[in-house]
Amino acid sequence: MSEPFRVAVIGAGFSGVMTAVHLLRTQTARPVQVLMVNRSGAMARGVAYGTQSPNHLLNVPAGRMSAFPDAPSHFLHYCQRRDPSVTAGTFVPRSVYGEYLGDTLAEAVAEASPNTLEQAVAEVRDIRPTAEGVTLELSDRRMLLADRVVLAVGHHPPAHPPELTAEFRASQWYVRDPWAKGWLDRVPKHLPALLVGTGLTMLDVALDLHPAGVVGAVALSRRGLMPQPHDPNVAPAEPGHRPPEIEDATTVREYLAAVRRCVEAVEANDGNWRQVVDSLRPITPLLWQRLSVPDRERFLRHLRPFWDVHRHRAAPACMEAVEGLRANGWLSVRAGRLVSVTLNQDNVNVTVLPRGQEQPVMLQVGCVINCTGPSSDVTAANDPLLNHLFAAGLARPDPLRMGIDVTGNGAVIAADGSPSPVLGYVGPLLRARDGEGTAVPELRVHAARLAARLAAECG
Ligand SMILES: Cc1cc2nc3c(=O)[nH]c(=O)nc-3n(C[C@H](O)[C@H](O)[C@H](O)COP(=O)(O)OP(=O)(O)OC[C@H]3O[C@@H](n4cnc5c(N)ncnc54)[C@H](O)[C@@H]3O)c2cc1C
Repeated sequence: MSEPFRVAVIGAGFSGVMTAVHLLRTQTARPVQVLMVNRSGAMARGVAYGTQSPNHLLNVPAGRMSAFPDAPSHFLHYCQRRDPSVTAGTFVPRSVYGEYLGDTLAEAVAEASPNTLEQAVAEVRDIRPTAEGVTLELSDRRMLLADRVVLAVGHHPPAHPPELTAEFRASQWYVRDPWAKGWLDRVPKHLPALLVGTGLTMLDVALDLHPAGVVGAVALSRRGLMPQPHDPNVAPAEPGHRPPEIEDATTVREYLAAVRRCVEAVEANDGNWRQVVDSLRPITPLLWQRLSVPDRERFLRHLRPFWDVHRHRAAPACMEAVEGLRANGWLSVRAGRLVSVTLNQDNVNVTVLPRGQEQPVMLQVGCVINCTGPSSDVTAANDPLLNHLFAAGLARPDPLRMGIDVTGNGAVIAADGSPSPVLGYVGPLLRARDGEGTAVPELRVHAARLAARLAAECG
């Protein structure tokens, strides 16, 4: 039998696992050997699906969460085999999705022969192209050889709010990463917690803190905007919901005007703004790529907070539970700016400037929890592997540092602008190219496409 074609997949979240699954399923003249290396231990979970909390629900309904673009009901059927009451519109716990990914990978391995999967728990520290392929250097000092590498390194932990001093960041009163294991045990119960950020991460955190017996929480963001909930009574978007003028628009200002006009027209016709927002999803990459860099920057600075709360909606049950916590006074959501945070003996003094006011207010809290979501600056994320790739010119950040430059077929673009013959990328850093594309309905397409290209190169 011929030598196997070795593909190293770095990262075992959704993106890495699904690329591996497609590679294991391919039938090529040479067998494919997938080497999956994952830093965080648990395979097939990643940041999003590693949670065990039953309060953390998917924010996309079961009917749209299949891992396979060509089998849209795959996840729904998986759920229904476990619980026949699940429908296409049910928002199931994210932990179920983690089990689904694990089972999907196990099934692909069982049916893979002659293809194979090897898994390693380690961090890939460096990657060096050689005459024979690529060498990967692991944190346990092992070296791996591969013909191709898939970077599926996912999300970076939240960036620190700049108002926090180095001393405070290092203290036990600060939770930087509420997706890391064990953070809840460190939270004092007798004082409210300050949650910095009012988006989807804040909802998860509030729904963890309340049952843990913490006395209350204050959530703070510049505008105090919270995610909108999905509405199960709204029909899916149809082509007629897309703003007609957007076809010829080329600036953020024109996009906004077109969307506003369309929402008015759709709502006057008994439709809903959600249909207009959802109608843009398939053309978001196109709209993003049409914008100049200064206009993209304008969007990120002024419009993204509003876009995010309408586009990345919450499961209705999560939103209902959080609104209940606001109604009974446990949670207060405020618009304002963090001014300073100082440590006392056993509590934390926080100064906040409420939006539109000149007089700051003081709060006494038990801890500060960073709920600002994954870091959005790839150069500030302090990722050793990406930093090495940037330094060696094997990859480059996009001009806005949202992600890395990647070609349409998933090849990493080097500093000199050439597509890498050996490095591929799939995951949320594609937002540099596509504006978004960080959720399963997009990532499943990218993973399948990248695996198909690699299989074609396998020969
Ligand atoms: C909290 C949260 C909830 C979400 N909920 C949904 C949802 O309900 N529906 C939806 O469609 N999308 C959701 N998303 C979007 C989510 O981004 C995607 O669905 C998907 O999970 C991204 O997976 P990934 O594999 O690209 O990244 P990740 O899940 O971040 O996985 C990357 C993996 O790579 C590993 N890694 C990184 N660097 C290295 C290295 N150098 N060496 C070895 N291993 C490394 C990490 O340890 C990690 O396991 C959510 C995202 C978050 C953060």
